[in-house]
Amino acid sequence: MIISRRGCLNVAEELFVKGKQDSISGYPIELSEKVFQKVSEGIMITDLSKRILHVNPAFEMVTGFQRDEVIGHSPKILQSGIHGSDFYQKMWAEVNDKGEWQGEIWNRRKNGEIYPEWLNIMAVRDAEGAIRNYCGIFTDLTDRKVAEQELKEMALTDSLTGVSNRYDFSERMKQLLKTSEEYNISHSLLFLDLDRFKQINDSLGHDIGDMLLIEVSKRIRRLIKNKDIIARYGGDEFVIALSAIKHPREAAHLADRIIEALEHPFHLNGEEIYISTSIGISLYPNDGDTTDELLRKADKAMYFSKENGRNQYCFFHDDLQPSSKRLVILESELRKAIEAKTIEMVYQPKVDVRSNRVIGLEALVRWTSEKLGPVSPSEFIPHAESTGLIAPLSEVILERVCEDFIRYDLAKDCGLPVSINISGIHFQQSQFTAVLKQIFEKMNCQPAYFELELTEHTVMNNSHHTAEKLNELKNMGFKISIDDFGTGYSSLSYLHRFPIDFLKIDRSFIKNIHDQKENELIVNAIITMASSLQMEVVAEGAETLEQVQLLQRLGCGIVQGYYYSKPMRPEEIRFFMEEWNIRQEERV
Ligand code: C2E
Ligand code: MG
Ligand code: MG
Repeated sequence: MIISRRGCLNVAEELFVKGKQDSISGYPIELSEKVFQKVSEGIMITDLSKRILHVNPAFEMVTGFQRDEVIGHSPKILQSGIHGSDFYQKMWAEVNDKGEWQGEIWNRRKNGEIYPEWLNIMAVRDAEGAIRNYCGIFTDLTDRKVAEQELKEMALTDSLTGVSNRYDFSERMKQLLKTSEEYNISHSLLFLDLDRFKQINDSLGHDIGDMLLIEVSKRIRRLIKNKDIIARYGGDEFVIALSAIKHPREAAHLADRIIEALEHPFHLNGEEIYISTSIGISLYPNDGDTTDELLRKADKAMYFSKENGRNQYCFFHDDLQPSSKRLVILESELRKAIEAKTIEMVYQPKVDVRSNRVIGLEALVRWTSEKLGPVSPSEFIPHAESTGLIAPLSEVILERVCEDFIRYDLAKDCGLPVSINISGIHFQQSQFTAVLKQIFEKMNCQPAYFELELTEHTVMNNSHHTAEKLNELKNMGFKISIDDFGTGYSSLSYLHRFPIDFLKIDRSFIKNIHDQKENELIVNAIITMASSLQMEVVAEGAETLEQVQLLQRLGCGIVQGYYYSKPMRPEEIRFFMEEWNIRQEERV
């Protein structure tokens, strides 16, 4: 049965005014009674002194009161206490004055629960126009309110993580900046981008990626206060408005805590996942007075953090400005270099300190752009990774190493193998092993002469596929080396499942091995651990004799670094080796 609120009111009014006559305005009495009983709106009829005379079943259902409990009482038993007495005074004044009042009101059910209802009160007059009764008809709005709230939340929150979405963020920022101007308050904006999130998504799947985003947002939320705003801004980007700060160091402190909070591994679906974040910070009002400007500058600072090694934060400052221009040029220059294959390789020897023999070379890429001059691989490799250029660039590098290998007869002159750095992004691609195989076949080079260097972060990302791929590469004949070891969090058991030949200790440990006892202990632990797993340890970045001697004492077998040689062009290798061998003979 569909009955409008107005129609229902008429029925109730007539029922009451005319009493149980045989017919009301042509309706048979049973029909009116039926309607009164069946409508879903609650109906309550009172006398002039507002004592309840009559309620319908819907009233009982909504309020929880049985009719016997309310008949003869005042409707005040339903009052929630939310509205003040002036609210009720105004309401009744309008009913008496205009004959009707309607609006939203909060009432209380018998069980104490407060709920919203839409209430329509009518003054019912007799034939002379004097008010005889009041009739209230109401609808429970609880469900609608819940639905409205859900809709509101959907429009304002990010459905995956439950934090604000872009829209809500910019609305709240608008409000924040408006009041800040009046009261001279400072804020800071942190722009976060997860490092290598794409890799996780690509290798472990979007479900894990989504779970990770949820967990990351939970960890960050624990660090911020209610007054602050956190929003998900893009795939793996979050922004935080840290409001009402007294000093920029508060923003730096929060950035530090976020970085630290994400350092602990995430356990998702049986996988142990490591992630880090790069953060850029802008300040209001120093860096701008609109949300857009603050975001733009925090984003720029975030890029800078990424370019400079990730897992860190950086404040926006004017010197960062050209860097975005640089990035644009970098990308187009890199494209040209890949197309024209104008990259070069240099080679750095690795020395077995036990026998004092050169036992291998590490191939390192070099690139001089026409417009930018020499660019470090630490800058352009990550850039190639984030712009999708890494696969074609890696292919050019692999071909060039194979070319050099044959042209300069590297196998004859010095120890083997030649190691090649492999980008994590390239490695994760499904065609990686096939492409590698194809290139080595095409260049007529045997993988047995080569070693692949993968960073610790790369192998840690997805153990299942990594193990499979590494075994495939081993079967093809390549040696496998873990580069920059010690910068991640690989555990002994974790590495045990991979067919690894060499562990290269990150040069940051070697650099301060004499000054920081802690570094010596770490290097010592790595060497002990590696030997128990039958892996050779390579220490990279040794620049002094003292470092080499200490490494030797700690049991490190292979050392690489400026102490022996800087990376050299392939044509220089022959001379280097000749000299090395002469000195060797002199030593003997
Ligand atoms: P990496 O693989 O850890 O390479 C070692 C880096 O340490 C090289 O820097 C090398 O020149 C430098 N180095 C070696 N001995 C010393 C030393 O005694 N002292 C100091 N201070 N540095 C030393 P480079 O060539 O600038 O390469 C930086 C990083 O860029 C590499 O770190 C590697 O991750 C990446 N990279 C370089 N070439 C390639 C490449 O062909 N492909 C890929 N995917 N990445 C590459
Ligand atoms: Mg390397
Ligand atoms: Mg390294």
